[in-house]
Amino acid sequence: MTPAPSTPLAKALTRRIAEGGPITVRAFMDACLTDPEHGYYRTRPAIGGAADFITAPEISQTFGELLGLWSAVAWQAMGAPSPFQLVELGPGRGTMMADALRALGRIAGFAAAVRIVLVEPSPVLREMQRTALGRTGLDVQWVDDIGDLVPAPSILLANELFDVLPITQVVRTADGWRERTVVLDAEDRLSFSVAREPWLSPLPAVAAHAPVGALVELRDLSPIAGALARIGAREPVAALFIDYGHEATGLGDTLQAVRRHAAEPVFEAPGKADLTAHVDFEAAARAFTDAGFQVERLSTQGEFLGALGIAERASRLMSANPARAGEIEMAVARLMAPEGMGSRFKVLGVRSPGLPPLPGFHTA
Ligand code: SAH
Repeated sequence: MTPAPSTPLAKALTRRIAEGGPITVRAFMDACLTDPEHGYYRTRPAIGGAADFITAPEISQTFGELLGLWSAVAWQAMGAPSPFQLVELGPGRGTMMADALRALGRIAGFAAAVRIVLVEPSPVLREMQRTALGRTGLDVQWVDDIGDLVPAPSILLANELFDVLPITQVVRTADGWRERTVVLDAEDRLSFSVAREPWLSPLPAVAAHAPVGALVELRDLSPIAGALARIGAREPVAALFIDYGHEATGLGDTLQAVRRHAAEPVFEAPGKADLTAHVDFEAAARAFTDAGFQVERLSTQGEFLGALGIAERASRLMSANPARAGEIEMAVARLMAPEGMGSRFKVLGVRSPGLPPLPGFHTA
């Protein structure tokens, strides 16, 4: 007997494939994350210690505080324009922005100049963000999409946004490159396959000598870079994108589902698990240079937070809260771990060509 699909989304996708044929990995990932009815980020995103996965702002308040202070320095380097917009893309529970704004409270002129804009398609997360930011007393505006932002001097922050944007996977078969698809197997279960027609679009240079079975991942960041270029056509823009991934384009399948802090097969519980793929920072940097921006030399999260003074920030916090000192120290160590988040996470800095180099990056 054929096993029943594991989730309502698995059932809907099974029906969709039975009726319309194979779907691409990109369409599968998009449905898992943003299907209006069953998508993970539309229904039950669970970010935090007791949930599916944990992110840097949920580990330590120093993360958001330092990004807040970074924003103030970047704003001053722009000539302290007033008004300007501080934008966060994919703010999750709103923790990072709340921590950033607390740190910014002491910066002269900042509160009067800033307009907070959050780009968040998920109604569930918007509610959490509203709660987290309610105490700041500042006006917060939400938009669904980065394309909805208006032109203005802007500072944009995004932590773990790129990794949830859907990827295309292309596989080298004995008959050449084919897009990876999702089909139904003999028992009507979701499984991987490849398209019948050849892949005709350009592939990165690493594909040239790849063996049969090799897989390339492509993620189109040009809509984000293009939207940034539009809001920054006449106004200064500075942006930070923090995420995990690799410095140079490589080969290999990095699509992974995570639920309750453990990886699981991607077809186990579509819509109920987070689904991500590593960021290719070489391709990401190219998307922004192609859109006319300057891109700073890629930093690791450890180098970047170190340069912003995380050690000093942590020791001040520890002296102010002696009872929590051990916990604060451990959280910061986790963000900085050379074999862990400190090096797996990278920081991409992007600025308008007229601005000086962004703070926190190596210029050499
Ligand atoms: N930055 C947060 C949350 C990361 S999870 C943190 O570090 O904890 C990814 C976030 O991106 C969620 O808020 C999700 O709803 C949002 N998101 C997903 N697709 C998006 C899109 N296309 N544009 C903007 N945000 C998106």
